[in-house]
Amino acid sequence: MKPAILVVEDEDALATLLRYNLEKEGFEATFAGDGEEAMVAVDERMPDVVLLDWMLPKISGVEVCRRLRNQRETRNIPVIMLTARGEEADRLRGLETGADDYIVKPFSMAELIARIRAVLRRIRPGLAADELKQGDILLDRVAHRVVRQGREVHLGPTEYRLLEHLMQYPGRVFSREQLLDAVWGSDVYVETRTVDVHVGRLRKALMADNQSDPIRTVRSAGYSLQN
Ligand code: CA
Repeated sequence: MKPAILVVEDEDALATLLRYNLEKEGFEATFAGDGEEAMVAVDERMPDVVLLDWMLPKISGVEVCRRLRNQRETRNIPVIMLTARGEEADRLRGLETGADDYIVKPFSMAELIARIRAVLRRIRPGLAADELKQGDILLDRVAHRVVRQGREVHLGPTEYRLLEHLMQYPGRVFSREQLLDAVWGSDVYVETRTVDVHVGRLRKALMADNQSDPIRTVRSAGYSLQN
């Protein structure tokens, strides 16, 4: 799965340049032209990283960042601020609102890509790793194999993808709709209760030796992997 980058930028020329370079580097890029669009885009699909311009029409970049940090679902999304202001006070203000990094315009694409990769490595090592480990569960992406407490766990392809997705973001709660988008794809029509069926199968397989349940059901919100 390609890391998804949401670019919030109102300058079309820069947005076009960013799209070209991000896609060339193997990222999936989506765009929002102002702060309101950005909030809608995040709600529709959780990005892995947000590139957020400081000066935006309607809601400012700083305010978008603050709102992302104030919602449980979006609190941990890495945010890189793009700013034309190089002054120390402004940079500090950007970081105070919860941005993970900032980059001053004009910047080179190579520098921006390096910053994105650094943030991804720091915050989501799972996006790059061949192996994911959470508690006593080990998922080997190369061999497509899952082991819990030394015993191999046999999973169907959907349960495998579901577990892989949850293991990339331990502790984060996903709604059924978000899991459908991430695991089945947003262009497929599947009823949300299908998610419950597959979570049930995943649980059963993971608990086959009477182990504890690693998946938490959050009432009226969704599911998360215990961390
Ligand atoms: Ca701008």
